[in-house]
Amino acid sequence: MPFAMFCQHKGCKGTGSQMEPYLDSKTDKVYCSLCDQELPNVTYFVKVQMKALKQFRQKQAVAFGVKCQSCGKEAQPKVVNDDIVCPACTKPHTHLSEPFKMMLKDKLRTANKDV
Ligand SMILES: [Zn+2]
Ligand SMILES: [Zn+2]
Repeated sequence: MPFAMFCQHKGCKGTGSQMEPYLDSKTDKVYCSLCDQELPNVTYFVKVQMKALKQFRQKQAVAFGVKCQSCGKEAQPKVVNDDIVCPACTKPHTHLSEPFKMMLKDKLRTANKDV
């Protein structure tokens, strides 16, 4: 069970119902998962508990995200002329393995069907 608490900030949905806060491991501060504001008055004990539960700030996951070796941007690649290319700098992702490219082509085709 993740640790849940109320948010102390006015206007946040977390004041009426409990939310699962997250801990920034760099600053050791606790934040509301709904309004992203810092929650003061979080006891040392709670922080230790959150660390044990690994309730850290989640990196926003990019669907089928690939980190580009040319520009360093992590984004969902595009399929251009049967190549997997970076949408930011349009350079092909040559560091990917063939099976992974096959999978990506397949997934991207189905994911972008309705676009
Ligand atoms: Zn909040
Ligand atoms: Zn790039």
